Amino acid sequence: MGEPFLTLTNISKSFSGAKALDGVDFTIGRGEICCLAGENGSGKSTLIKIIAGVLAPDQGEISIDGKLCKQLRPIDAIREGIQIIYQDFSLFPNLTVAENIAMNHQLVQKRRTVHWREVRQIAQAALEQINIRIDLDARIEELSVANKQLVAISRALLQNAKLIIMDEPTTTLTQKEVDSLFAIIKKLQAKGIAILFVSHKLNEVFEISEKIMIIRNGRHVVDGPTRDFDRSKFVYYMTGREIPDS
Ligand code: ADP
Ligand code: MG
Repeated sequence: MGEPFLTLTNISKSFSGAKALDGVDFTIGRGEICCLAGENGSGKSTLIKIIAGVLAPDQGEISIDGKLCKQLRPIDAIREGIQIIYQDFSLFPNLTVAENIAMNHQLVQKRRTVHWREVRQIAQAALEQINIRIDLDARIEELSVANKQLVAISRALLQNAKLIIMDEPTTTLTQKEVDSLFAIIKKLQAKGIAILFVSHKLNEVFEISEKIMIIRNGRHVVDGPTRDFDRSKFVYYMTGREIPDS
């Protein structure tokens, strides 16, 4: 799968003595759609927080674009093009769609005053990149969950994203909304953006991903191309329990 964009080597992390991650290795290629699967508490969120520089690993190495990152801070991860869409989207509920999207834009961050017309233009251009229409002047709190997510993705795009991480993005979506999210993920990939999609739903994982990585109790269990993956083993890999034949 192309050149690696992100490589994690032997990553471990404990919280008050309890190992949340134990020697995890992982690679994401440029423009690759990768699913990270595991049961609740297996360490998925901890792993993505480490990738985003939000948590420091106790041990292990992170390389981005072939460069070893000694101490990855959130600002470094953002500069390298790593963006996380958290489950709560981290948007400002009282601000408009345009304001939420544009606030990550350089222009808005560097200047003291930015005309609302510019803010709308910046936001509009981001939405158009993935062909979505949302009322720019709507306030975030008025939007559906699916549209909030699209605002968060559009905002990430303005940060020159090379890897967008989505933590369980389909949890509260309808099937129709999941389908449209997947279409957008494909568009992001067509722009060369890699996606790390966190999920434990078998159907989704096999529908969207090119690579699957499963962790259990903070340990790497298996990874590899989705097309070679034995679907009937998915739950076993996640839980360590055989499923009785029904
Ligand atoms: P997942 O996202 O797969 O559900 P997490 O990464 O959130 O798993 O959690 C992995 C383990 O680490 C769990 O046992 C969880 O309780 C623990 N953990 C995660 N974050 C913290 C924290 N900030 N403080 C203490 N324990 C934590
Ligand atoms: Mg989690």
